[in-house]
Amino acid sequence: MSRVLIIGAGGVGRVVAHKCAQLPEVFSEICLASRTVSKCDEIAAELPRPIRTAQVDADDAQQVASLIRDFAAELVINVALPYQDLSIMEGCLAAGVPYLDTANYEHPDEARFSYEFQWPYHDRFVERGITALLGSGFDPGVTNVYCAYAQKHYFDEIHTVDIIDANAGDHGLPFATNFNPEINIREITAKGRYWEAGEWKETEPLEVHRTFDFPGGIGPREIYLLYHEEMESLVRHIKGLKRIRFWMTFSENYLTHLRVLENVGMTRIDPVEFQGQQIVPLQFLKALLPDPASLGPLTKGKTCIGCVIVGVKDGKPRKVYIYNICDHEACYRETKSQAISYTTGVPAMIGAKMILDGDWNKPGVWNMEQHDPDPFMRDLNLYGLPWVVDELEAPAGT
Ligand code: NDP
Repeated sequence: MSRVLIIGAGGVGRVVAHKCAQLPEVFSEICLASRTVSKCDEIAAELPRPIRTAQVDADDAQQVASLIRDFAAELVINVALPYQDLSIMEGCLAAGVPYLDTANYEHPDEARFSYEFQWPYHDRFVERGITALLGSGFDPGVTNVYCAYAQKHYFDEIHTVDIIDANAGDHGLPFATNFNPEINIREITAKGRYWEAGEWKETEPLEVHRTFDFPGGIGPREIYLLYHEEMESLVRHIKGLKRIRFWMTFSENYLTHLRVLENVGMTRIDPVEFQGQQIVPLQFLKALLPDPASLGPLTKGKTCIGCVIVGVKDGKPRKVYIYNICDHEACYRETKSQAISYTTGVPAMIGAKMILDGDWNKPGVWNMEQHDPDPFMRDLNLYGLPWVVDELEAPAGT
């Protein structure tokens, strides 16, 4: 029985609020706070039980700490934007309550995708006797837990990991992003990067691609190599790892739009002068693009996110594919959100439950794979993201 403060009332915040509200035995009282309180009120009106709503500027650590104290929160779930991670962590330290997020800190002026700003908080969280759980979404999040689960139950040594993320959904619009357009486009237009033989290797954006045959009726899709933040922690924590890569599907239509927007400068994140004002082109583009939350009722089809893992067990080569398939329309029926928000919001709720239940409540700053994966994997099956493990034919010479 605990009081949880959710910060951020976007697509993911909506799912977290719905899922926490479905579990009153764990989350006895809920406060949903965001920059625009009317969005919190709109979500609150959809829920099966009353919750509190509040306005907060989460860039201001003092405001966050005051709200935590005022609501007597016992845990903060940060599903605002990555720009707010550090101020919300500071607010949690000041008030002495655990912290959870789903994406690493980013500075608004520079897309670096790194834990270098959050990991140094470890000692302060230890001294304060509270925990911080980083990246409790799907990727990062569930993908890290899949790796930890594979390490614990399927392998003596893991050699390669390919994290593969397919959104095979269709919203019928010419161009839209599935989550915050600014964050999404910053990620996709960055250079690709993967880790092999102890070092990071860089590619041009979306340069490396191949076809992957997805399960669940999705079939073959083109997947593109991107950098993704969970690789930074997995290379530290998975034993014997020789290579890790991250792949995502994009349709030809999506990439054509993106190429044009990039070529004309609309994806730039540095300010430009326009009619006497400084504007950031990507932020202006965000204002024009469909709100990801509006895609919920339009999107049909499935997502499939998982890890193909190769290594050795009992001296023999082994290859497994652990994945989840999620249906956009089923997610919308349950939470009024499409599957991208759903697959992020459910693990955020489960991560919070792990902390409150005590399974993952260790002082310090932790990535998902540093905890015992078993209770988390159990809850994925219980709360809407069931997983499958397929044994595949292992390549010779693993
Ligand atoms: P949205 O843009 O839909 O929602 C973000 C919310 O944060 C909005 O309600 C926004 O308020 C609020 N917000 C922004 N700035 C502030 C502030 N200073 N103070 C208080 N509230 C603020 O994003 P999503 O819901 O799609 O994504 C939420 C998070 O989830 C992001 O960090 C994203 O990177 C992460 N994510 C993680 C994934 C994973 O698998 N790990 C996958 C997808 C997303 P307002 O409404 O006023 O703009």
